Amino acid sequence: MTVTMDTLVSLCKRRGFVFQSSEIYGGTGSCYDYGPLGVELKNNLKRLWWRDFVQSRPDMVGIDASILMHPSVWKASGHLDNFTDPMVDCRECKLRFRADDVDTRPWTHYCAATKGNRFTIPAGEPCSHCGARRTLCPDCGKGELTAPRQFNLMFKTFMGPVEEEASVAYLRPETAQAMFVNFENVLQSMRLKLPFGIAQAGRSFRNEITPGNFIFRTREFEQMEIEYFVNPRDTVEGRPADEYWHDRWIADCMAWFRRYGLREENLRLREHGQDELSHYSKRTVDIDYRFPIGWSELMGIANRTDFDLKQHAKFSGKSLTYFDEERKEHVVPYVVEPASGVDRALLAFLADAYAEEEVRGEKRVVLRFHPELAPVKVAILPLLKKREEIVKTAHGIRDALAKQWRVVYDDTAAIGRLYRRQDEVGTPYCVTVDVQTIGDSEKGEAGDGKVTIRDRDSMEQARVPIDALPGVFHDLLSGGAWAQVASRYPATT
Ligand SMILES: [Zn+2]
Ligand SMILES: [Zn+2]
Repeated sequence: MTVTMDTLVSLCKRRGFVFQSSEIYGGTGSCYDYGPLGVELKNNLKRLWWRDFVQSRPDMVGIDASILMHPSVWKASGHLDNFTDPMVDCRECKLRFRADDVDTRPWTHYCAATKGNRFTIPAGEPCSHCGARRTLCPDCGKGELTAPRQFNLMFKTFMGPVEEEASVAYLRPETAQAMFVNFENVLQSMRLKLPFGIAQAGRSFRNEITPGNFIFRTREFEQMEIEYFVNPRDTVEGRPADEYWHDRWIADCMAWFRRYGLREENLRLREHGQDELSHYSKRTVDIDYRFPIGWSELMGIANRTDFDLKQHAKFSGKSLTYFDEERKEHVVPYVVEPASGVDRALLAFLADAYAEEEVRGEKRVVLRFHPELAPVKVAILPLLKKREEIVKTAHGIRDALAKQWRVVYDDTAAIGRLYRRQDEVGTPYCVTVDVQTIGDSEKGEAGDGKVTIRDRDSMEQARVPIDALPGVFHDLLSGGAWAQVASRYPATT
């Protein structure tokens, strides 16, 4: 099924994934806050990316650079001159529009043919009374629009106490430049050999004029970027090294999204046409995802050649080269850049995990998150909260498991309701403690020391000794099969 954006937005708010920023003040334009479950999900996503693409690879290292960089960085990168959108302003109401966006919205029209009545006319259509097309401001319907002017998307601020041109600084619009600027530092300090990559995850800022679609496009966002440097003179499997590694990264990134739950039918590769390519890019491929808003870019993987290092060498006056020991020559490496957005990836994983199904005549909403992504791994639910021994045992289990995973305790509703709540936030496993677990000392009945684990996806149960829980969850949460646990520890009922 395809989930709508409204459904996701409402679930995210209701269950503490994503809130509008500064909501009590009416919200800040296209800024969002991650709530208690959202931050867990986002941290998991970033940790998996770091583990799989940095930590586990011998050819990768990471950095964490400052958001405020030397203004010359943005001159060299081209952002100061080219990171712009053409904008038009209304002379009357002062609203600003992207020039190519003015006719993609309904427009306000005071129609002379109907004594100046006010109409709202669908985007791009003429007035049905007088036949006029939009020429004035689409919002107020009165003001003339200025000629298009270039508007830079970087957030500008000032360093130090004086607000003057010389102290202008920018919030970085991408994390990538820090990898180029630190190329020499990283190369020398880590004694690296080509090919190698530098990764960074962190915040970036873009003063988007038409942001929107929830966390798909926001003004403040997080990126996970890699700059993978290769020797353009090398060949791998008979192909130029940069082309070989470009394809490798495309395949690795696709495999990564699939591994953590994005479905094949919702992913596709999109090759940039010649007219779309930046002048320095040899080839760019996007991984598109079928978001609730339609097919859109999930991430891009570009072969940026030696453009960035050469630009920074030119503007800084430093040599940014690599000494090729074999050929006894200095070379400017080519770079392959797999660039992805954390918020966008999170939205894709949310959308793909969402399912509604009918269970015994009732609607069940479930987020089928991969266990490693799930914000809460295990929920501990006491079957009777009036039995002190049950509650105590449940808390004890929570405390023990919480040393390794995010584990919650909940006794605020009946068990059926508690299961549904955990399903809706994607908790893969629930543990219930019942009378059988602890026994009944008054009747002289001993407990069996076992608890029931319930699997989110199959809703099957297993009966597992409390002592075995850490081992069982270690297997399950790192990708082990539920079927094995279910057959090893069958539920008695
Ligand atoms: Zn106006
Ligand atoms: Zn009209």
